[in-house]
Amino acid sequence: MKLKDRVAIVTGSGQGIGKAIALAFSREGARVVVSDITDKIYEVQKEIKTESLAIKCDVSKMEDAKKMADEVVSKFGRIDILVNNAGIYPFKPFLEMSESDWDKVINVNLKGTFNCTKAVVPYMVKQRYGKIINITSIAGTVVGFPQLVHYCASKAGQTGFTRALALELAPFNINVNAIAPGPIVTPGTQVLGNEAYENFRRAIPLQRWGEPEDIANLAVFLASDESKNITGQVIVSDGGYVTQ
Ligand code: NAP
Repeated sequence: MKLKDRVAIVTGSGQGIGKAIALAFSREGARVVVSDITDKIYEVQKEIKTESLAIKCDVSKMEDAKKMADEVVSKFGRIDILVNNAGIYPFKPFLEMSESDWDKVINVNLKGTFNCTKAVVPYMVKQRYGKIINITSIAGTVVGFPQLVHYCASKAGQTGFTRALALELAPFNINVNAIAPGPIVTPGTQVLGNEAYENFRRAIPLQRWGEPEDIANLAVFLASDESKNITGQVIVSDGGYVTQ
């Protein structure tokens, strides 16, 4: 029970990595806020064994982020952990990428991280305690990926955000870290199809796609006090993909 009675918000937790993190936090005793743009939150909430809240929140909207933070504090009295996980990765060649394609990805992945963090941090500062975990990616943070220029820019942005914010919030006993996953099996990546799956698998030194639980286990560590001396870091979990 590494997170006993902690209050955690996980954005984009209706499926995939976010869902696995929400369930893992609950198994470790946290009170969990399942948050997503879709109704899938109500199904995930049924699987949460600890006290929980399901909140519809479009992270690209500051008013949604503020409403979520206020609702969590009025129910639980505090917010200990924020996982900025909500993200989109619509593949598009740069030559075909419109301004609105660009804006959409930046608004969800990067501005969404800003919005939710901005809404939550005042409460963390007041309680002199907090853990912020940004789910970035090896794409943009360590390597480039074709057809994902907007996505790579957003994830590089999230990485810089993590490092700078960690320094500003350190005096308030708030840790800010990021996880950079490699290829992970989720509903979002399943659309790539079998051939792409197999090609990636062969290119990964451990010869396996990561599972959402691989990321969730790392998130538990970063959300717990076992990692209290770690801040401003980006931890890669990718089966060795970017090491070769
Ligand atoms: P996923 O399966 O697509 O799930 C993401 C969830 O976020 C979906 O429920 C999605 O709803 C929701 N969402 C989309 N836009 C949102 C918004 N504006 N506000 C709130 N929620 C929103 O994604 P995933 O593969 O689990 O990825 C989760 C995170 O890990 C992302 O930040 C992604 O960039 C990062 N990541 C993933 C991989 C990977 O290989 N899977 C690798 C590196 C990094 P809809 O389904 O309705 O869009």
